[in-house]
Amino acid sequence: MRKETLLATLGCLPELHRGVVNTPPYRASTILFPTLAEFEAADRGESPYASYGRYGTLSTETLENAIATLEGADHAIILSSGLAAIILTLTAFLSSGDHLLMVDSVYGPARRFCDQELKRLGVETTYYDPLIGSGIASLIKPNTKMIYVESPGSLTFEVQDVPAIAKVAHDRGILVAGDNTWGTPLYLDAFKLGMDISIHSATKYISGHSDLVMGTVACRKPHYKRLLYAFRNTGACPAADNCYLAMRGLRTMAVRLKQHQDSALKVAAWLSSRPEVGEVFYPALPGAPGHELWKRDFTGACGLFSIALKEKASQAQLAAMFDGMEYFGMGYSWGGFESLMIPLHLEKIRTATKWPHQGPLLRLHIGLEHPDDLIKDLEAGLARLKKAA
Ligand SMILES: *Cc1c(COP(=O)(O)O)cnc(C)c1O
Repeated sequence: MRKETLLATLGCLPELHRGVVNTPPYRASTILFPTLAEFEAADRGESPYASYGRYGTLSTETLENAIATLEGADHAIILSSGLAAIILTLTAFLSSGDHLLMVDSVYGPARRFCDQELKRLGVETTYYDPLIGSGIASLIKPNTKMIYVESPGSLTFEVQDVPAIAKVAHDRGILVAGDNTWGTPLYLDAFKLGMDISIHSATKYISGHSDLVMGTVACRKPHYKRLLYAFRNTGACPAADNCYLAMRGLRTMAVRLKQHQDSALKVAAWLSSRPEVGEVFYPALPGAPGHELWKRDFTGACGLFSIALKEKASQAQLAAMFDGMEYFGMGYSWGGFESLMIPLHLEKIRTATKWPHQGPLLRLHIGLEHPDDLIKDLEAGLARLKKAA
């Protein structure tokens, strides 16, 4: 079955809901059991139902099964946020005295978790160049327990050679975990590339409507028990209504992504033709950094990319551009229906690599507006930036 067909059919259980197509949100804390035997079996995890709302309902289970199937995994766990999914993955497998190899382009709050919390708990993190490939072998220590990838990084879009990294890791019994939010469960096959754990911020394209925060972790059988136990110990469960909304988002994810990609390609190509733009970081754009690896490892691209302006711009110039945008909102997150644009400041973040570009870096999310309207908006924005010089 193709993924489009899965999206239209997964998680429909009309026989359980009097013919209703969608699984309703089960808002639950208490779950009742008719006999002591069944109550105690649920406590031991031997019942078909979880013993308590925090451990899951048919709403969470429906979404778990959908994500596991889409990812070609054996299991998935749904959490209250993408960051919670990252933290679960790190803390389920890393203990005091362990060493983590973390990609330098990782999502910022995950980096903070490593620098502040993992460090405090006695786990050492080394950041590595996203383009290191099999060269990662030279950074491995006897206590290296996990290599974490995020390909492409969600600010600068370096595409990693994940199969090369996974080979080095697996030859040494090291786990490979990856944040695949950009690739989505549709355009990136994490397990085929060699990842053991696949993380998504479902806040982005899975929900797709900028109205919830949620994360997913998918894995194969051998890693499920550890992840499940760790998950149950965190309490970071999702809300039933959010599970319902995420399932609803999944139904249209393939058609939305197709449009995001088409429009992003158009806007990115236009930007790369502009004299004000130094470089466009959109792996799907022919000639862009990472394009060849993207073609090898991905089957599509989402609507998120960044550009480096050719020349330095003052704060007043940037304000002239940003404050007057008609369709590009200024705000965090991405993957919703609306276009977004934010300035980025990398100098303060990276440690393993140096960012070579002089001009400001802008991150764009191309939403579902007509791309010609978006281009017109950007054209006027670049004119304001120039005029304010
Ligand atoms: C947004 C994001 C996250 C965090 O997800 P939340 O649901 O906001 O906690 C993690 N990784 C990437 C790449 C993201 O863009």
